[in-house]
Amino acid sequence: MPELPEVETIVRDLAPFLLNRRIVRVQVWDPLLVRYPGRQDFNRRLTGRIILGWGRRGKYIVGRLSGGLTLLIHLRMTGRLLLNLAPGEKYQRAALDLDDGARLWYCDLRRFGDMWAYWPGEEEHLGGFNALGPEPLSPDFNSRWLAQRLAGRKAPIKALLLDQSLVAGLGNIYVDEALFLAGIFPGRPGGSLGPRELDALAASVKEVLTRAIEGRGTTFRDYRRGLGTPGEFQHQLQVYGRSGQPCLRCGEMLARMRAGGRTTVYCPRCQQ
Ligand SMILES: [Zn+2]
Repeated sequence: MPELPEVETIVRDLAPFLLNRRIVRVQVWDPLLVRYPGRQDFNRRLTGRIILGWGRRGKYIVGRLSGGLTLLIHLRMTGRLLLNLAPGEKYQRAALDLDDGARLWYCDLRRFGDMWAYWPGEEEHLGGFNALGPEPLSPDFNSRWLAQRLAGRKAPIKALLLDQSLVAGLGNIYVDEALFLAGIFPGRPGGSLGPRELDALAASVKEVLTRAIEGRGTTFRDYRRGLGTPGEFQHQLQVYGRSGQPCLRCGEMLARMRAGGRTTVYCPRCQQ
């Protein structure tokens, strides 16, 4: 599932090709894709709009269009946004034709992805987007925020960090990586973390995400950058996907557990 660094990379890759282009035709073939408004209204709203801004909030792609319309896209598990369709690329669910002849494809094997096209005042239809916590790379995400939100929480810190209202954009990969970097055992109750651990955790989240964006995201199976190429950060992962292999810091065998309903990899020696 694409997390913040993968979505950020897709946004950056596509921006030069989309900005100031006019959408001349909209086709949606998957009835499950558009969450708001209906499929026909979605097409009608988008057609003729100019793409004025192209950004990200958490794991959402945010397109700011002429007339004040916003296009919101969540790729979920296997969604892909591609400017040029690679030979053999399947599962096309939607396409936006631009005024320079380019076509932006939306492909999605498992069909969990969502799109919205909304005007100001229609935010009630956006669900989880309204409840997003701070951006992890912004100053609003810090140990003070964590202390306030984790106080008294008994759930494992791993599960709490996956909650998009605590911090926006993290998923299984980068939570495991950040907890390893901070030296914190994923099963620790959120409320048990001390001030120094919260400092380390906030700093580790920022460091892991910054490095992953520099590495253009992590590709295991499905994620592709906006122009179809894979990311490179998978070569730098310390714990995710490395269960049973030696810890790169201490040599101990990395272990696996379930936390927050997700497979979690950690070092039994480095993480307490
Ligand atoms: Zn270790």
